Amino acid sequence: MSAPPKSAASYGLCSCHVCRLVSRRTDFSAPALCPRCGTLLHFRRPRSVTRCWALLIASFILYIPANTLTIMETGSLISYRRDTILSGIVHLWNTGSYLIAAVVFIASVTIPLLKLISLTLLLISVQRRSLWHPRERTRLYRMLELVGRWSMLDIYVVTLLAALVQLGNMAVVKAGPGAVAFGAVVVLTMFASMQFDPRLIWDPMQRKETHD
Ligand SMILES: [Zn+2]
Repeated sequence: MSAPPKSAASYGLCSCHVCRLVSRRTDFSAPALCPRCGTLLHFRRPRSVTRCWALLIASFILYIPANTLTIMETGSLISYRRDTILSGIVHLWNTGSYLIAAVVFIASVTIPLLKLISLTLLLISVQRRSLWHPRERTRLYRMLELVGRWSMLDIYVVTLLAALVQLGNMAVVKAGPGAVAFGAVVVLTMFASMQFDPRLIWDPMQRKETHD
């Protein structure tokens, strides 16, 4: 593999995370401020890995109640149901709504879990200063960011379902405690991926260059 270009940080160049102005740091004894907007400058997002881990572990913990507690209560004159995400999917599948069941399964179970696993992999590889496929890991992070923008899709699916049931049967639909945990998982994972600094993936490559 050809050598990666040198990083801006190795030239003392620092990008402001608010106004994106690139400036050169010369004095390292005192904290530097952005010459344009006055924000404190950092070469890398400060404590990125620790913050990302904290948010990620909280997401993993909340993923359990999100999947085991009631997410939706639906009632009509003749029936009353309490559903977790999975029992809701099974119910949809058994009643013949195969497409909606598949969409809810992908949006509410698969995607959040894949996001959690991918971020864990990225964090472990960065902490171990791994040199393993940096380009692919960067692509994985970009995909995470892209999916992050559509994270609220999961909530829309639940809202849409609630609307469908309500319109169809004149029924009562209530969000259960699982919905709160589920929403928290979505938001925390989004914050966790925002805290991750993808430049950390490339830093071990620079060190390797200087050692060679
Ligand atoms: Zn600035």
